[in-house]
Amino acid sequence: MLIVKKFGGSSVANAERVFNVANRIIEDYKKGNDVIVVVSAQGDTTDDLIEKAAEINPNGASKREMDMLLSAGEQISIALLAMAIEKLGCPVKSLLGWQAGFETDSHHSIARIKKVNTERLKKEIDKKNIVIVAGFQGLNKYDDITTLGRGGSDTSAVAIAASMKADLCQIYTDVDGVYTADPRKVSTAIKMDEISYDEMLELAAMGAQVLNNRSVEMAKKYNVELEVLSSLEVKPGTIVKEKVKMEKTLIKGVAKDNNVARISIVGLQDTPGVAFKIFNKLAQYKVNVDIILQSVGRDTTKDITFTVPKDQGKQALEAIESIKDILEYKELSIDEDISKISIVGAGMESNPGVASKMFEALYDAGINIQMISTSEIKISVLIDAKYADRAVTAVHDAFLA
Ligand code: ASP
Ligand code: MG
Repeated sequence: MLIVKKFGGSSVANAERVFNVANRIIEDYKKGNDVIVVVSAQGDTTDDLIEKAAEINPNGASKREMDMLLSAGEQISIALLAMAIEKLGCPVKSLLGWQAGFETDSHHSIARIKKVNTERLKKEIDKKNIVIVAGFQGLNKYDDITTLGRGGSDTSAVAIAASMKADLCQIYTDVDGVYTADPRKVSTAIKMDEISYDEMLELAAMGAQVLNNRSVEMAKKYNVELEVLSSLEVKPGTIVKEKVKMEKTLIKGVAKDNNVARISIVGLQDTPGVAFKIFNKLAQYKVNVDIILQSVGRDTTKDITFTVPKDQGKQALEAIESIKDILEYKELSIDEDISKISIVGAGMESNPGVASKMFEALYDAGINIQMISTSEIKISVLIDAKYADRAVTAVHDAFLA
């Protein structure tokens, strides 16, 4: 059996943990499996390197040189892990992204994997070597090192699993699986045995940062079944796959996202084309709009309210202000003290009453809802940020406790 394992930065943060990981790899290898391991940079290495770059050029170094710098973090961890495995007496070889065949596009710092040329990986596996691959990096067509974006090592692992047709892709982290809510905040949160790709994507997008979103998208595309499990304890984790068995619970999880700002434009003219002008301009400014609400027109005016990621709030205001003369609105404002609370579950589609149960739980907790949005597998509400944790617990307990 070919097993791909990915260990995150915290799992290899120091010598003791490196040996812990080495032992877990060797356990599978000694059972007769072929093992390819993807690792991230140790602990906070990537953040530390970013700080070092800022010491040299606070205004922002070029992305090419940033990739050159950041990829060094993973080079350190693959060598150390390989040394540990060597010391424990097993054949091993560490490979940088390019050596492992990672071809990417040229978008430095957020490169996309184009393909993995697997010859070298296959050669090492045929020689019965354990292979340790540097996550998060590849090579573009100009032979320059690229990186895949923060948290990109998950994607590296999935790409190898897909192109090597691995039997198992295990993502080890410092939590032991995917929970119905953040277990540090909600004491009644429980670990899920299984979750679908779509549900996982929704939860990840809302801040349940167990798996990198791109890695889940790729796993879905190539139908790679993932197992999320603890690197520190030996126990089953959560399986992420296409179809999961129907459970009696309709709702899989509750998540909060504090990275939201709400922008309101009051007193717009109630004429055709206003929404188009606004959102077209926002797109030009590369602002990601999430929930949109337009009021029913009264007299000759209407209001439009929408949410954006907090760090794009300023950008969004600039975009709107740039067409102030065309729009002739009365008032433009931003609120950053808000939070988005969402429930996710593939089962809610065919079940009425899910929304009302969520709203009831919030009502009972005395929390006012500012905006609502729904999709086939998700219902989100926008509330005052100071009630976020209370809201998550109330909603979670209404459905899942
Ligand atoms: N070391 C990189 C980061 O911290 C990649 C990863 O951890 O997956 O973002
Ligand atoms: Mg990291």
